[in-house]
Amino acid sequence: MSRKVRVALGDRAYDILVDTGLIQKAGEHIAPLLRRPFAVIVTDENVAATPHLQALRRALAQKNIGCETVILPPGESQKSYAGFERLCEALLALKVERRDHLIALGGGVIGDLVGFAAAVLRRGMDFIQVPTTLLAQVDSSVGGKTAINSRQGKNLIGAFHQPRLVLADVDLLATLPARELRAGYAEVVKYGLLGDADFYAWLERNGAALLAGDAALRIEAVARCCMHKARIVAADEREEGERALLNLGHTFGHALEAETGYSQRLLHGEGVAVGMALAFRLSARLGLCDAALAPRIERHLSASGLPARLTDVEGARSFTPAVLLEHMKQDKKVRDGHLVFILAEAIGQAIQRNDVTPAAVEALLAEQLARSAT
Ligand code: NAD
Repeated sequence: MSRKVRVALGDRAYDILVDTGLIQKAGEHIAPLLRRPFAVIVTDENVAATPHLQALRRALAQKNIGCETVILPPGESQKSYAGFERLCEALLALKVERRDHLIALGGGVIGDLVGFAAAVLRRGMDFIQVPTTLLAQVDSSVGGKTAINSRQGKNLIGAFHQPRLVLADVDLLATLPARELRAGYAEVVKYGLLGDADFYAWLERNGAALLAGDAALRIEAVARCCMHKARIVAADEREEGERALLNLGHTFGHALEAETGYSQRLLHGEGVAVGMALAFRLSARLGLCDAALAPRIERHLSASGLPARLTDVEGARSFTPAVLLEHMKQDKKVRDGHLVFILAEAIGQAIQRNDVTPAAVEALLAEQLARSAT
């Protein structure tokens, strides 16, 4: 059942291991990477309250690896200047050395924050990802994008810094709140929609069982997503071309996250879910794809317990197309003043376009917001 995916980046290449029971064997996998038998685990309070932290500490101890643990408050607010400062100072107080490894045990927040700290602390340390959310296992722990947020927008301060190893243990998902699991599932669906129609059809058949807890299906899905991401990252590490396709749904999604204040009103994956359906609607409006696709995707997202329509977002009645468009203009995906959209010609055939007019986007948003009145 166990799967191994290689991210082929020359002397920075690394493995993603996907399995059950991996955390118990973490010492075996991590020991060969270390230059001295010491590592610092960084996690958040929610993960620290699960058995996973103790399991990881025990696994390291079994291989005589000494470890310190830094436990941060949970939540996106940690990806801030203040959160970053607190983490760096805590790590420096532990006297971490440049050749030490940090271990990010957590979701995308911990992964992004620890990865960014590793990129700059002592001018660059190594780090290992032990992702504990589905989103982190299929997306954020792979590919080396690390960042914190600015008041101007999300992930605007960051670095490309690849981990040395990713241990994706699907057992860790057992303690994840169901809503977080579903939000991560949106990113799983994304891989099918952007580049693998067979995988998308597989998800339509198996998504419910996967969400209900089937370990074999979870391993298969996580490994398949990681294979896609690994291939794309190896071809375009710094997002100069194909890697941008991974942003399917994100231009709309980030605007919705901004408008809902990056709060519990809308989780990142939920924003991506609505955003992907909107991307297919926009594609259909522009004559790029069949108009029947967006409703098909909305059906699968809704059946998976995700918001699929703009009007599914709490407070959508107060949204205006112009304000959502303003949020999009602050996105990293603006190039030479043009909004860059990931659109699709079919399921599994995403394309990048920078010729979408603001008027077309506004018209779509107005039409979709009007659905709330019906
Ligand atoms: P998260 O890290 O906030 O985790 C979600 C919640 O689940 C948190 O409350 C966390 O404490 C809790 N949690 C995590 N694992 C748990 C477990 N096993 N059991 C119980 N509770 C657990 O959120 P996320 O959805 O994993 O990540 C979102 C972040 O990832 C965003 O900041 C986003 O920008 C970033 N991201 C980065 C990339 C990238 O390529 N670097 C890609 C996608 C998303």
